[in-house]
Amino acid sequence: MLENCNNILVLAPHTDDGELGLGGTIHSLISSGKKITYAAFSTAEESVPEGFPKDILKTEVKNATGRLGIRAENLLIYNYEVRKLNYVRQEILEELIKIRKKQTYDLVFIPSLHDIHQDHTTIAQEGLRAFKNTTILGYELIWNNLTFNTQCFVRLSKRNIEAKIEALKEYHSQGKRDYLSDEFIYSLARTRGVQVGCEFAEAFEVVRLFL
Ligand SMILES: [Zn+2]
Repeated sequence: MLENCNNILVLAPHTDDGELGLGGTIHSLISSGKKITYAAFSTAEESVPEGFPKDILKTEVKNATGRLGIRAENLLIYNYEVRKLNYVRQEILEELIKIRKKQTYDLVFIPSLHDIHQDHTTIAQEGLRAFKNTTILGYELIWNNLTFNTQCFVRLSKRNIEAKIEALKEYHSQGKRDYLSDEFIYSLARTRGVQVGCEFAEAFEVVRLFL
């Protein structure tokens, strides 16, 4: 199915969500010549640790997505206030519709509809509204998922997972979070791989599927 998807959109509430949820898949798709546009809605200026410039996440997301092969011109960075995306829900929906009108996407990735972070919920719901006539897959961020239905898997190589890890290492401002550790990223990718009889995988929820 993925062979037929040439123009793909990733919706990330915060700058690292896309890499965390589907970094391996992005690397794999780009390696096979697909075009990926990545839209990040908050650079979380309000929660950047002391000692870093306020716009550090803007630089880090450019470096991280660049490591996965996303071209700078296909990276859209918005500056909505972190933890308050729900305050500007309608504005975000209108931006999403602008993105949709600029080009036609075959596949859109959103956070899982079972994600309980308020910003993730907003992007998942508004993303679904804006792209309801497109195939949509929900990505996994286990620390925010109340539950997660592993309905769709993308088989990945060790190199794809290494690229995901290298990309996430660009987030120097995010410190040593459990979910950024090499051990966690390998373990989850192995877990999803073992579920479907391959070495590594990332899992997705099927939100909308057009065949
Ligand atoms: Zn996030």
